[in-house]
Amino acid sequence: MASSQPKLTAAILIISETASKDPSTDKCIPALSQVFSDLGSSNWTISTTTIIPDSIPAIQDAVLKACDQGINLIITSGGTGFAVKDVTPEAVGPLIEKQAPGLVHGMLASSLQVTPFAVMSRPVAGVRGSSLILTLPGSPKGAKENLEAVFKLLSHACLQASGGDSRQMHSGGVKKLEKEAGVGGGEKVGGHSHGHGHGHSHGHGHGCGRDHGHGGHHGPKAHTAPEDRPQQSNDPSQGPSRRYRHSPYPMLSVKDALQQIDLHTPSPTTITLPVNESLVGHVLAEDVTAPESVPAFRASIVDGYAVIAGPDAPSTKGTFPVAMISHAQAGEHQKLQPGQIARITTGAPLPPGATSVVMVEDTILVSKTDDGTEEKEVEILTSEIEVGENVREVGSDVQAGDVIMRKGEGISAIGGEFGLLASVGVKQVSVYKNPVVGVLSTGDEIVNHDREGELKRGEVRDTNRPTLLTAIRGSGFEAVDLGIVSDKPGALEQTLRDATRKADVIITSGGVSMGELDLLKPTLERQLGGSIHFGRVAMKPGKPTTFATIPVKSNDGSRIDKVVFSLPGNPASCVVTYHLFVLPALHKLAGVEPKGCARVKVQLDGDVKLDKQRDEFHRAVVKAGADGLLHAVSTGGQRSSRIGSFKGANALLCLPAGEGNIKKGEMVDALLMGKLIGDV
Ligand code: AMP
Ligand code: MG
Repeated sequence: MASSQPKLTAAILIISETASKDPSTDKCIPALSQVFSDLGSSNWTISTTTIIPDSIPAIQDAVLKACDQGINLIITSGGTGFAVKDVTPEAVGPLIEKQAPGLVHGMLASSLQVTPFAVMSRPVAGVRGSSLILTLPGSPKGAKENLEAVFKLLSHACLQASGGDSRQMHSGGVKKLEKEAGVGGGEKVGGHSHGHGHGHSHGHGHGCGRDHGHGGHHGPKAHTAPEDRPQQSNDPSQGPSRRYRHSPYPMLSVKDALQQIDLHTPSPTTITLPVNESLVGHVLAEDVTAPESVPAFRASIVDGYAVIAGPDAPSTKGTFPVAMISHAQAGEHQKLQPGQIARITTGAPLPPGATSVVMVEDTILVSKTDDGTEEKEVEILTSEIEVGENVREVGSDVQAGDVIMRKGEGISAIGGEFGLLASVGVKQVSVYKNPVVGVLSTGDEIVNHDREGELKRGEVRDTNRPTLLTAIRGSGFEAVDLGIVSDKPGALEQTLRDATRKADVIITSGGVSMGELDLLKPTLERQLGGSIHFGRVAMKPGKPTTFATIPVKSNDGSRIDKVVFSLPGNPASCVVTYHLFVLPALHKLAGVEPKGCARVKVQLDGDVKLDKQRDEFHRAVVKAGADGLLHAVSTGGQRSSRIGSFKGANALLCLPAGEGNIKKGEMVDALLMGKLIGDV
C-alpha cells in the first residue's frame, strides 16, 4: 500500500479481568503497539486502546462501538482459552458477518510452530460492516506472534472490507499483491504458503461459521464436536440436513441479557398530548409549571358568615346586618363595610374587605326580612375569630409558576397526577410516546384459540398470542394483533416486514428452538438485516429467548431500530419471558422508571425444588400476610408447556440453580407481575 494513502485505523481491545481493574498490569498494549510501529507505522494509526473485563456484553459493546466508528482493524487480546471465564470467541463470533477462517488458520499455524499448546487457542476472525476483527491470545508474547503472522496482509483485507475496488486492487496479479504486502512469493505466512484463490475471493457471504459457541456452556451436552458434523448453515433454503445441529448463540445470564436489552432498546421519543383520558399511563418528558394558582380567589372553607376581624375592627361578637350573599359561583361583590357581614357558602369567594369566615354553628338568626324569606340580622356568638380564619388564600394549594410535576413522573390511573394537571388548567403536556407492540404466533400447527370444532391431530390452539395481547394491554401499552404466521420462510419475512411499519416492538413466539422449521433467527438476520443480541439465556423456562433489533427508515428518513423479542413457543416460557424481558424494554421506550417487575422478598409457604443447571422463574401466588411478611405459594407443576402454572400467579420466584430444595419458611426474591393480594 502506498504510504500516500490515508492511514488505516486500528483498535486494540484487551480482555482481562485483572488489567481492567489495574491497567498497570497490562503488557499487551505495548507489545501489540510495537508490532504496528515495527511493521506498519506508515500505514496505521492506533486510534483506541481499551481494557475490558471478561464479559460478553462488555466485549460486544466495545467491538460494536469500534465498528460503528468505522475502525478498519479491531484486535482483541485475551479470553480465547478454555477457562470458564474465557468468552471472547463467544462474544465476537456472533458479531462477525463474514468469517475469515484463513486468518484464524494463519495465526494458529504460526503459534503451532512455537508450541503444541496453540491448539488450545480458540481464535475467530472476520468482517463486520467495514471492520476486520481478529481475536488474539492473552499472553503478550502469543498475541504479538499471532499478529505478526498475519499483519502484513491485514491492510489489504481492511481496504477491501472498507469498500476498496477489489478488481483494481487485484489487477496486477498475486505477485504484485505479495510485493506490496512485503511478503515474497512462496514466503511462509503463518507457516503456510499464501496461495492465490483463497483469501482474495471475498463478497460471497457464507452463512455458516458461527461455529464457536461450544466452550463452557451449560445445559444439555452434545457428544460430538462441531467440526465432526456436516457443514452447517442458518440458511433455511439449504434444508434440514444443513441446519445447525448445535446452537451457535452464546448462552447469556439473565443479568447480561437484561443489560443487552437495555443497551439496544431505543431511548424514548417525545409527543404532545392533550390533558384528557389518553394521558393516563404516560410519563412526562418535561417539567410542568402551573399556569394558574389554586385557589384562584380567596375562598371560604366553611358555610357561615364573612366578617371583618383583626386589630382595626371592633369585636366580631355581636349582632350584624347580613349585607350580601356569596355563593360558590362566578360573580363580583361589593366591598364589605365595617359593621356588616356576608352569608357565604363553602368554596365561595370572600367579598372584598372580608378577612375571615365565622362558621354557621357559631351564629344565631336574630331577624328576617319583612317578607320572611331572607336573613336580616345574625348574631355572632364568638369574639375569637382571627384574620384568615376559615379562608383558603390565593395560591395556598398551588402557586402559579410553581413546578407541579417533574420530567420522568408518570400519570397514573389512581388520579393524583391527572387531578393536579386539571386543577391548574394545563391543556397539554409533553410525554414519552408509549410503544405499540405487535404480537404474532408462528407455527403450522397453531390455530386460532376460538376456532370452532375439534382439533385435528397435531393442531394446537394459539395460547400465546391472545395471552400476550392481554398482558401487554394490562401493562398499559397498545397491542396490535399480527395473527398466526406459517413456518414457511417467505410468510414470516413478509409479516415481520409489515410489522416494522405498524409496531415499535414485535413479539413473536415459537420457532426459536433447534428444529429445521425454526426460522426466526435466520429470517431476522438474513432477510431483515437484523442484529441478534442474544439467542439463548441460561434460565428455566425460556432458554431459547431471542432478542434482536431491525434497522428501519423512519418517516423523516432517520434510522431507527425496531425491537424484536422472539419468545419460546411453550406458553409458560412465553409469558415468563414477556414479564422478565419484554416489559423492561417497553418501560425503557415509555420512559418508565424503574423498569420491569418490582423485586420483593417473600417467604416460602412450602418447599420448592431447585433446577440443578439453570436459574428458575417459578410461578407463585404472593399474598401480604397479617404478620407483615409477603408469603409465596407455588402454583404447582412448572413444565414450560403448562400455562396453568400462571393461573392465579402474581409473582415469579427467582430460584438460583442448585441441588435439592429451598425449604418452607426461607426467604427468596420474587418479581411481582400483578397486584399484591391481601391475606386477611
Ligand atoms: P417451537 O419453539 O415453535 O418449536 O414451539 C415449542 C412448543 O410450543 C411446541 O410444542 C409448539 O406447538 C408450542 N407452541 C408454539 N407456539 C404456540 C402458541 N402460540 N400457542 C400454544 N403453543 C404453542
Ligand atoms: Mg414452531
